[in-house]
Amino acid sequence: MAFCACGCGEATAGGLFKSGHDQKMRIDIEERAGGLVALSRLIDSAEQFAHGRMDVNEFTGQLRRQFSR
Ligand SMILES: [Zn+2]
Repeated sequence: MAFCACGCGEATAGGLFKSGHDQKMRIDIEERAGGLVALSRLIDSAEQFAHGRMDVNEFTGQLRRQFSR
């Protein structure tokens, strides 16, 4: 039995998500990030850090600023 990837703990019909829970998870992630633009900036920063174009101090500073709201 597969459990829904959104973290709700419910069983799926075989896929990653219970019906509609992928959208529920997408909305939750976007809201937690502070909106779609903020989510995009977060991903951009993570990519820059992962590729060595942003150092750890700059990256953690950006995370703290973004999530200090
Ligand atoms: Zn779920």
